[in-house]
Amino acid sequence: MNVEAKGPENRIVAYPHWPIEAWRPEVPGRITHLYTHWSAHDYASVFPAYHFCVAQLPRGEIIVANTHDVRENMRDVYLQPERSYAQHTRRRNSYALGLSVMAMEGATPNDFGKYPLTDALIEGLCVVAARLALFHHVPIDAEHVMTHAEAALRDGYFGIEPEQRWDLARFAASPEPLTEQEAWSAGEELRARMRATL
Ligand SMILES: [Zn+2]
Repeated sequence: MNVEAKGPENRIVAYPHWPIEAWRPEVPGRITHLYTHWSAHDYASVFPAYHFCVAQLPRGEIIVANTHDVRENMRDVYLQPERSYAQHTRRRNSYALGLSVMAMEGATPNDFGKYPLTDALIEGLCVVAARLALFHHVPIDAEHVMTHAEAALRDGYFGIEPEQRWDLARFAASPEPLTEQEAWSAGEELRARMRATL
């Protein structure tokens, strides 16, 4: 297991971070959508393209790192695209937060590679999403809280090619071909799990 982050800007200690039990949303403002991702990197590296990164330490502890200022996306970012904001989901970054689990480097649908998703990471992501949804009054439904795969399905770039996205369409590697229905079902499963944490 790689415990060294890719660069200084990818280290958890470069950002405010908490054990998941201690983390709570704390910055009020207009947020209407939440998008969930995986990083497609290792377990140790975090990324400022997301607002909240959910990482799992080698001893198993789940950590939440706040890697981007949430206030930068509390606006229509496309009106002034030159201003800084977290670019987590294509064309959907206005009033929207990006949440991600740190895993899945080199993963394919039939081989999740050296850093596969873990149940603890998924649970952590659901806790973070549910707390943010409650805090910002975002309904936990398919219109407002979706996986990157679901956003890609709606916007025409779902798939496993480099320019496509399938994050969180599947939770365990399988030789079965990845389907659109599986991606929608995975989104529903995550939302049910988010609601169950509240
Ligand atoms: Zn993504």
